Amino acid sequence: MSIPKAELHLHIEGTLEPELAFALAERNGVDLPYASTEELRQAYSFSDLQSFLDLYYALMAVLRTEQDFADLADAYLARAAAQGVRHAEVFFDPQAHTARGVPLGTVVEGLARALDRAPERHGVSTRLIMCFLRDESAESALETFEAARPHLHRISAVGLDSAEVGHPPSKFRAVYEAAAAAGLRRVAHAGEEGPPAYVREALDVLGVERIDHGIRSMEDPDLVARLVRDQVPLTVCPLSNVRLRCVDTLADHPLPAMLDAGLMVTLNSDDPAYFGGYAGDTFDAVAGALPLGEDDLRRLARNSFLAAFLDDDEELRARYLAEVDAHRF
Ligand SMILES: [Zn+2]
Repeated sequence: MSIPKAELHLHIEGTLEPELAFALAERNGVDLPYASTEELRQAYSFSDLQSFLDLYYALMAVLRTEQDFADLADAYLARAAAQGVRHAEVFFDPQAHTARGVPLGTVVEGLARALDRAPERHGVSTRLIMCFLRDESAESALETFEAARPHLHRISAVGLDSAEVGHPPSKFRAVYEAAAAAGLRRVAHAGEEGPPAYVREALDVLGVERIDHGIRSMEDPDLVARLVRDQVPLTVCPLSNVRLRCVDTLADHPLPAMLDAGLMVTLNSDDPAYFGGYAGDTFDAVAGALPLGEDDLRRLARNSFLAAFLDDDEELRARYLAEVDAHRF
């Protein structure tokens, strides 16, 4: 679906397609345990979270140089633009790279190289969001933040991702305070597999402005009332929720109920190379499986721009919103 939209929940490492993985493996002399792109493509049909994470981290071995990260981001931006994405706020996981010896500066500057030229090359404006792995220690997150200080002019916000249960937001209070003091915006994954209490903690302890996923908020009516009152954006990723078994099928997804409740919901693709679709595919999939009309789809697209970190360019936001309003299905 080509309606203009912003992508607000997108892990750049989750956009690595088998063809690019093989090309980078060859360029860097990395051996992949797959004979062909077809065999690798089959491995992408994993059955659970652990097999997804195993593959996800194994493939990162092919990303080594600034050019690799620039190529990864550029390939994503080309695909996104072809599916109507006009603005992309891109997550990256520095610890997944520094842990295997790739300097943080290589990652940030490589990604920034592609993001800087995205408006001209793809017609897409961008922001970069640095995420901490919540199954790593709070100290590791703080060390990562300190290492990123020379690059903070490239980074708009911090986020929190990876395995949620057992790693409540409050564990990362200190690094979020440091990020706030440095003038960064704050988001966090919460209420994907973790309980509604984690959503409250992300808001109250970390001071986040958006909740990534947040679908389990629906179990807590008081929390829903608060999220509606404050119009806290939730970056929902239905294809990811199905693949990782947070919901059984797309038809069971709470997206329509979330919209009915008045929540500020946006639609996103999370790790599109692994979860079966980019932003436009996601709009198509929910439109096909859920009782959503054109008004709902337009509202989701409008919300994505309203929730975007475009406060420093309200003119651009207004232009994008006008494009949504002018769109014909
Ligand atoms: Zn995510």
